[in-house]
Amino acid sequence: GPTVGVLALQGDVREHRRILESLGARTIAVRTADELDRIDGLVIPGGESTTMWRLARSFELLKPLRKHIHAGLPAYGSCAGMIMLAEHLEDGAAGQETVGGMDVTVRRNAFGRQLDSFEAPLDFPVIGQPPLHAVFIRAPWVERVGEQVEVLARVATGPAAGRIVAVRAGGLLATAFHPELTADARVHGHFLEIVKEA
Ligand code: GLN
Repeated sequence: GPTVGVLALQGDVREHRRILESLGARTIAVRTADELDRIDGLVIPGGESTTMWRLARSFELLKPLRKHIHAGLPAYGSCAGMIMLAEHLEDGAAGQETVGGMDVTVRRNAFGRQLDSFEAPLDFPVIGQPPLHAVFIRAPWVERVGEQVEVLARVATGPAAGRIVAVRAGGLLATAFHPELTADARVHGHFLEIVKEA
């Protein structure tokens, strides 16, 4: 199977590794530029994107991450990871930078107070039935998608109905929610298919 790196600066690294390994992938924790050379795909976990950005900067990982993603390294970002993969950010912290790669505008902490954190069934057509059980924790949403970006899922009901919460562009996949916090391995399985295609 492929070797998948999980960016291990901050966030729910262990949960992603566990679910990827349950699917037969080898995983490594990525903290250095060298480790980026040894992987077939990268997961950027959920956590706190401002902390991840600051750590990536002090570990001198921002440029290497950009270089590999620009060169076509497949990557999957959940929640804070989605923020990291966005080319454009709304409501970021002062000076907050991303890795980029996906032509999307992502709004950080988009769901606001009432929906701060919630769980909901989510139709995800490329994955099929049954719907995913999506866990949103101070989640972003996708405000704008570029022409090459495919919308994979939108919130079905409630005040945020219609909001985009999963996207793909080439080898890059991002979800506003956290499949790594559930027992459902289908999103990670979908990412491993993307890695194998690449
Ligand atoms: N609100 C967080 C951020 O801005 C993301 C939360 C998460 O990953 N659960 O990075």
